[in-house]
Amino acid sequence: EIHETEDRPEDLKPRIPVVTIMGHVDHGKTKLLDAIRHSNVAEHESGGITQHIGAYKVKTPRGEITFLDTPGHEAFTAMRARGAHVTDIVVLVVSAVEGVMPQTIEALNHAKAAQVPIIVAVNKIDLPEASIDRVKQQLSEQGLLPEEWGGDTMYIPVSALKKIGIEELLEAILLQAEMMELKANPNKPGVGYVVESKMDIGRGAVATVIVKNGSIRIGDYFVVGTTMGRVRGMFDDTGAKVSVAYPSYPVEIMGFDAVPEAGDKFHVVESEDFAKEIVAKRLELKRIEETNRIKK
Ligand code: GDP
Repeated sequence: EIHETEDRPEDLKPRIPVVTIMGHVDHGKTKLLDAIRHSNVAEHESGGITQHIGAYKVKTPRGEITFLDTPGHEAFTAMRARGAHVTDIVVLVVSAVEGVMPQTIEALNHAKAAQVPIIVAVNKIDLPEASIDRVKQQLSEQGLLPEEWGGDTMYIPVSALKKIGIEELLEAILLQAEMMELKANPNKPGVGYVVESKMDIGRGAVATVIVKNGSIRIGDYFVVGTTMGRVRGMFDDTGAKVSVAYPSYPVEIMGFDAVPEAGDKFHVVESEDFAKEIVAKRLELKRIEETNRIKK
């Protein structure tokens, strides 16, 4: 396997948080992701057209945040099952009208099992039937006692539709991240995880990678599962070119020899020859496993 060097404490720098939004169907995950995205300072600066690449980074006056934009716990658990631990914080969306529902509890349990801190976004507060307190009560029974009731869970009332409370939610995320002291070493070869991939007409195989540690640069050779390549181009979710992707950054990468799978680990390697060697070894291992499987 590819050797990853240990980081010395003095090499570690703060990194931005990576957030997944979860919650019951129709409670407003998609709408909230849209509202957050459109609050983005960077988006207004670049004026670019937003594209779905599986994740996006927002710039707020107080710092940046990466959001995975495949909401729901299916993607979250599928990634974790493959060892891809990319999410630092979960935002649990609960409709203040419908209250806690079965998938709210499921999402909550997945986040708890993964030991990822949860911030509750109480959504749809623009509606007259909304009850924030009921959500707080229901989730207190699940162990998420609000700060204002002596617990340590942040509850942020929002309306994804009317764009109320979005800034407060982003601030809560940054506050939570600050407490976690998230760090990584940007000065070494990049390691990350594929969150989405596709075959693109014209650009070939592309994949969105979230950098876990180190940095990914244009021209780097890399290995991902049994695919490899060289970084020919990197783009953000507005289609803007990126020359270096730092820890926690999501980037769409061009230059794969085949389409990798979501959850695959991405490694920058020192040379093309080394990349080829690793892929050959992995394919050989796969072949042996396959033969053993057939024998049984
Ligand atoms: P998801 O299934 O959790 O992704 O939910 P969606 O984001 O698709 O939202 C489900 C429905 O609720 C849509 O019709 C939205 O327009 C609506 N909705 C989402 N957020 C709000 C909100 O803050 N207020 C109101 N009134 N409706 C909302």
